[in-house]
Amino acid sequence: MQKPSPASPATKVKFFSGEDLPLELHKVRVVQKLHLVPVERRLAAITEASFNTYQLSTRDIYLDMLTDSGVNAMSDNQTAAMHRADDAYAGSQSFTRLRDAVEEVLGKKYLLPVHQGRAAENVISRAFVKPGSILPMNYHFTTTLAHIMENGGKVVELLHYPDALQISSTNPFKGNMDIAALEALIARHGPAQIPFIRMEASTNLIGGQPFSIANLREVRRVADKHGILLVLDASLIGENCYFIKKREPEFKDASVGEILKVMCDLCPLVYFSARKLSSSRGGGICTNDKAIYDKLKNLVVLFEGFVTYGGISVREIESMTVGLHETTDETVISQSPSFIEYFVNEAVKRGVPMVTPPGGLGAHIDAGGILPHVPREEYQAGAFAAALYIAGAIRGMERGTVSSVRDENGKDVLADIELLRLAFPRRVFTLSQTRYALDRLHWLYLNRGLIGGLKFVEEPPVLRFFNGRLAPTSDWPQKLAAKFREDFGDSL
Ligand SMILES: *Cc1c(COP(=O)(O)O)cnc(C)c1O
Repeated sequence: MQKPSPASPATKVKFFSGEDLPLELHKVRVVQKLHLVPVERRLAAITEASFNTYQLSTRDIYLDMLTDSGVNAMSDNQTAAMHRADDAYAGSQSFTRLRDAVEEVLGKKYLLPVHQGRAAENVISRAFVKPGSILPMNYHFTTTLAHIMENGGKVVELLHYPDALQISSTNPFKGNMDIAALEALIARHGPAQIPFIRMEASTNLIGGQPFSIANLREVRRVADKHGILLVLDASLIGENCYFIKKREPEFKDASVGEILKVMCDLCPLVYFSARKLSSSRGGGICTNDKAIYDKLKNLVVLFEGFVTYGGISVREIESMTVGLHETTDETVISQSPSFIEYFVNEAVKRGVPMVTPPGGLGAHIDAGGILPHVPREEYQAGAFAAALYIAGAIRGMERGTVSSVRDENGKDVLADIELLRLAFPRRVFTLSQTRYALDRLHWLYLNRGLIGGLKFVEEPPVLRFFNGRLAPTSDWPQKLAAKFREDFGDSL
């Protein structure tokens, strides 16, 4: 296996022409045919999908920007490693190799494999959360919130408000926790009611925004003062470390691998979705604390599988091992953020309100800012997601009120911000595809007055955004498709 050199090479290539373009630092060797279907089919497909982009088939999708989960490009070394996987129910050498990689890259010697990120959340929540527990975190993630609520706990978000939710910002670390608010919360409830504090790297739902090491050190100081466990959701840790290198002066000469270690050293319990981190599939929980490991081990056997595979195929375990090492290679981990930065900057030039600074995992479009004429109860971000699919066969993900929950009176808890996320899976899309997405977004933005709202027609009680069914509140989708045909002639 090739290990990246610890020295951190420059990852930005300057063009003689002066153009500011991201450059692919890899070549494409396996390809998949895509389907760019005409606008009439797009209108029919989104109708069949009940205006929920999760319900679309990839047969009807040109650019699948739904998520970065489990859809990152694998390297040649990852796929090669999958062939030497050791099929064994117990004691597989594939597991030993993964455990060694976790120790080398994340600095934790005890590893519990689990089938994906939310499985780690299930195990951790069952072990630590009780009815009445208070769980402070920089911000929630959908599956985290669901598991904590499932066990009777309450999530309290402690971002620094209002800067963290300000769409257009120059704050380099919008994912930071408000330390004064954390202290006040602990003073109010007492540490006994707080089983752990959770920090999420590249805070997903606010636009993949990082926290700083300085902030994490402060959180750790407060946690130690009160004897509270600090848990890190490391699913998107690579990009957070890349941003620290770029934005936190203390670490400008450190390698991504060194920053990763510093971050994990500050957090006694770390978990991750390997569908993101390591460009693979699966997940893991790791720690240096034997007591925590023992406490969680029994739950892994109950819900996931034996402790040397945890519900993951051994082939995926091998690809995780290589993927973890590759996360410390700056030429690998910089690819997605540099394409996102290009997309966000170009969209802003065209007047489209975007979450800034550009974050990790995807470009985030301010659907609330684009559709003030659509009532928030009619799901601005959900409507914009459906509209962008009609405009370009591009599948994004609603990250707004559809992804939220209802309160005890059955009223929608309006999301803090209504975003459409266009994920940039790692090393998947080319620059011309990125420019196509920009072009269709620009057209849609100029035609935003045509976009109307959505309403639920079938609403699951938990995580409704996955399988919920919606309908438009008027015939706006037909009008939008007709305008597309008028403007683009016989083009796809
Ligand atoms: C995706 C994600 C999860 C959940 O992981 P799954 O593998 O999808 O279950 C948890 N936390 C964060 C920050 C994530 O991005």
